[in-house]
Amino acid sequence: MKDVGEELAERLRKLNWNKDYRQLIRDAFNDEEVREFIRKNKAELSQEDIAKSASKVYEFVSIKNKIKRGEETLAPGYDPQLIINNHLIDVTYVPSETLLLHKKQQAIYNRVRSINMPKDIRDAELADYELEGRELAAQAAGSFIDEYTSAPKKFHRALYLQGSFGVGKTYLLGAIANGLAEEGFTSTLLHFPSFAVEMKNSIGSNGTMKMVDEVKRTPVLMLDDIGADQLSSWLRDDILGVILQYRMQEELPTFFSSNLDMVKLEKQYLTTNNRGEAEPLKAKRIMERIRFLAEEYTIVGRNRRQFKK
Ligand code: ADP
Ligand code: MG
Repeated sequence: MKDVGEELAERLRKLNWNKDYRQLIRDAFNDEEVREFIRKNKAELSQEDIAKSASKVYEFVSIKNKIKRGEETLAPGYDPQLIINNHLIDVTYVPSETLLLHKKQQAIYNRVRSINMPKDIRDAELADYELEGRELAAQAAGSFIDEYTSAPKKFHRALYLQGSFGVGKTYLLGAIANGLAEEGFTSTLLHFPSFAVEMKNSIGSNGTMKMVDEVKRTPVLMLDDIGADQLSSWLRDDILGVILQYRMQEELPTFFSSNLDMVKLEKQYLTTNNRGEAEPLKAKRIMERIRFLAEEYTIVGRNRRQFKK
């Protein structure tokens, strides 16, 4: 069989096409992928059809080479592909693997809603979690993901991560949220002290209750750094209490992280309000809900923050 490029060049010569253009077309027809495509589809393509498809073949090869050289194309993220369309060769554009991966990753990120959380938890992964001093917590985190994934409608007790500043509590919450997101589940991570300030600042507005409503209904909720601020009775009973009551009733997974263990959380944080009044019974009620929702794990280790800027 005569070389396709040669034959085409001959036809174009007859048509008196510009010499440079003829060379470009000939190069395009010499592209390995193009030759393979023509070989595969030769039953459907006459020489005439092939000649008529020259500009499409040229488009295919020039875009492909542009992508190879890392240059920007008109449709970034899409790769050209040869197809047969109405007996002619045509080019279609399909999402590249990089684009598909990027979209998948974006979908995972979008399943984790972070409110006032540090940015570095975005890429936290259980697989990267250094185990020393947190074997039990890491193991419980892994089991939670497995069990929740296999039966998301059932109640699963979540984790209450307790430990001193910088040991990796927040990071572990982020890793759990990301692990769940990979399985298709949505969580909300909330820095509780900042949330409390926002609530106080918006007392009485429609936004407050809407926000509380959204938070309490999220499939998986993580309250980060609970116990780090001072609570008013209103925040304890009408915000935190309402959220936890709903989650307990609906059996929705709820995680906590705190510098305080459960006993201290009850005695120091929940019992005495910001005016110094002791309300032990109210504290007990909140604590019962927390204990129902989560099991306590102590994380020990060095403060990882001091090694960063
Ligand atoms: P905590 O919430 O207990 O105060 P963080 O989770 O914020 O601590 O962790 C402190 C710092 O150490 C953060 O910058 C975090 O990204 C990092 N970090 C924590 N645990 C790990 C880990 N297992 N592997 C890598 N980095 C970690
Ligand atoms: Mg933290």
